[in-house]
Amino acid sequence: MSDTAVSSVPSITPALVAKIVGNYVVKNKIAPAEVATLINAVHHSLVSLGKAAAPEQPRTPAVPIRRSVTPNYVVCLECGWRGNMLRRHVHTRHGLTPEISSEVGAAP
Ligand SMILES: [Zn+2]
Repeated sequence: MSDTAVSSVPSITPALVAKIVGNYVVKNKIAPAEVATLINAVHHSLVSLGKAAAPEQPRTPAVPIRRSVTPNYVVCLECGWRGNMLRRHVHTRHGLTPEISSEVGAAP
């Protein structure tokens, strides 16, 4: 896999979008007001097809990491929650296991 691979996705034309939307509308009843939304969604999906996944935004902790652990509480770097049991918080609130939470920078 190379980052410089050239996309082979054909150009997206209004006709292509119309064809997809048309086929969808035939089989799925949608409100007229939703057609524009559907067109936008189809177009956006097509445009994003050939592109590499958007680079992940650098994660910014809710608080500076140095201030995330205090004698009285620890702070969740994901959401800024404060408490004593970060392990339970990241599991219940963010669905993270202890193994994953160490990867996202949460204190154990
Ligand atoms: Zn949190």
